[in-house]
Amino acid sequence: MGFKLNGKRSVCWLWLGCLNKKGYGMCGRKTHLDENYAHRYMYKKYKGRLSYKKELDHLCLIKRCIRPLHLESVTSEENCRRKWNNNPHIAKVLRKLTDNQVRKIRRLRETTKLSYRDIGRKFGVNAGSVYQIILGRSYMHVEGSL
Ligand SMILES: [Zn+2]
Repeated sequence: MGFKLNGKRSVCWLWLGCLNKKGYGMCGRKTHLDENYAHRYMYKKYKGRLSYKKELDHLCLIKRCIRPLHLESVTSEENCRRKWNNNPHIAKVLRKLTDNQVRKIRRLRETTKLSYRDIGRKFGVNAGSVYQIILGRSYMHVEGSL
């Protein structure tokens, strides 16, 4: 892994057990209890208390990494903000469209009978992306016509 921490290469500890649908390491039963998330378990074991209200940000961006050194506890707002602003991968995949285009996509779906695929074709994105945009799951920061 090419992750650097304070200028030094830092190897990820990849969880080899089960992963949940989102790609996070799970131990124990697959419920959403804190202890069942491998990275949360490791963080608590090595770094101490962790409020259930706090999320752990993977500084290395590797979801299945469980190295406590690569995890930072943040509020969910902060975590969300970082995902948008600091994650080059997400920025590239999701931020292909301008805010205006997103509004247009939502408006098209409301005012026409075009399919997700037809709308996507106009903007150079696939049907899945259009679906996420219309549901408001992506481009949450764009207001209006939701
Ligand atoms: Zn890591």
